[in-house]
Amino acid sequence: MSLQTDPTHDPALQSWVASANGGATDFPVQNLPYGRFRRTGSGEAWRIGIAIGDQILDLAAARGCTDWPAALAPQLDALAAGDLNAVMAAPKAVRVALRQAFSAALRSGSVQAAGLAAFLVPQADAEMALPCNIADYTDFYTGIHHATAVGKLFRPDNPLLPNYKWVPIGYHGRASSIVVSGTPIRRPRGQTLAPGATAPTVAPSQRLDYELELGALVGPGNALGEPVAMAEADDRLFGLTLLNDWSARDLQAWEYQPLGPFLAKNFGSTLSPWVVTMEALAPFRAPFTRPEGDPQPLPYLDSATNRAAGALDIQLSVWLQTAAMRARGDAPVPLSQSNFKDAYWTLAQLLTHHASNGCNLQPGDLLGTGTQSGPEAGQGGSLLELSMGGKQPLSLPGGEQRTFLADGDALILRAHCQRPGAARIGFGDCAGMVMPAPALA
Ligand code: CA
Repeated sequence: MSLQTDPTHDPALQSWVASANGGATDFPVQNLPYGRFRRTGSGEAWRIGIAIGDQILDLAAARGCTDWPAALAPQLDALAAGDLNAVMAAPKAVRVALRQAFSAALRSGSVQAAGLAAFLVPQADAEMALPCNIADYTDFYTGIHHATAVGKLFRPDNPLLPNYKWVPIGYHGRASSIVVSGTPIRRPRGQTLAPGATAPTVAPSQRLDYELELGALVGPGNALGEPVAMAEADDRLFGLTLLNDWSARDLQAWEYQPLGPFLAKNFGSTLSPWVVTMEALAPFRAPFTRPEGDPQPLPYLDSATNRAAGALDIQLSVWLQTAAMRARGDAPVPLSQSNFKDAYWTLAQLLTHHASNGCNLQPGDLLGTGTQSGPEAGQGGSLLELSMGGKQPLSLPGGEQRTFLADGDALILRAHCQRPGAARIGFGDCAGMVMPAPALA
């Protein structure tokens, strides 16, 4: 079960990679996330690496070592070739065995240390690609505080629609425009209806926003027509990334009824490059509970395991650096914080619900969690919430103000897990800078 810890989670473990120790890094030896990389500007083949401290263990170069378990040869070959999807398709037991092998290789005292030391690439010298091939992308809406706050803006008397507490709300997104952290985001043009106007105009979005989300990547999928029971759902998930679901609120307001988001959402969605595995997250499981008086999940979305440990305690934050701040050399400032354990649905429920009608999920499919806003004011996971629909500008250091994003703004999502008795692990940055709208053709 991905919910249980083992010796790879021992907080006392240290790595022979010095930068992995000390508690400040996102990537101690207890984390071991996968990413696809090559040396910047080298034109080398993409391959999978494991982040360790400020380094990457190059699994293409390390494949030549003879010290790996023979049973893992097919997966090690796939990783060396840059094919994470092949490993995602493998059963959970294989993922656990890989984690144990990499933990043994990278911990202090490893007999492999001398051989592997030559195969470290500094993260500062690497460029990252999307970690896997993402064939399909579904975005959910599990942040009840976000759903309520946004609902209030549009429907003050009826903020939360009656289906919300019964069915995990979602829509099918677009996989082709998912980009890796660091990719610039062009401000979209589109139709908007100005207040009081009777006909729309086409212009660059004036209400460009971000959404703080996690992205769950599917492991072994399910065949068409074959649902996934809650008891199996956690094992069908491979890992988590951060996801920024950039959103053009003015385009969205005009187009979203009756079929939901379309061009307001598919001009770019940014994914962090490192996949934190479900196994690495085992120490940070939390009970799934419902507030007093709320309906309990229907039986197909319920299990004892889910109630006991279906949620995940992941601290999330959003940071902004404007062009003026960058010019002055000022660091990004925090805009908000929240925690994924406040989500209304668990990842297992999302996967089980998605497959409940027989819809087939495939290795590498992306399930967005929806915007994760906290329960308190100032914990909104989007500017739409933080600026009260654009009515209350945020004041930034240096006298700038924002209701929505300006060209040149760099937006960074961060996440980490921290608990007594466990080593702190993090996700690395999910960053993107807003570029001016393209000139009209
Ligand atoms: Ca979203």
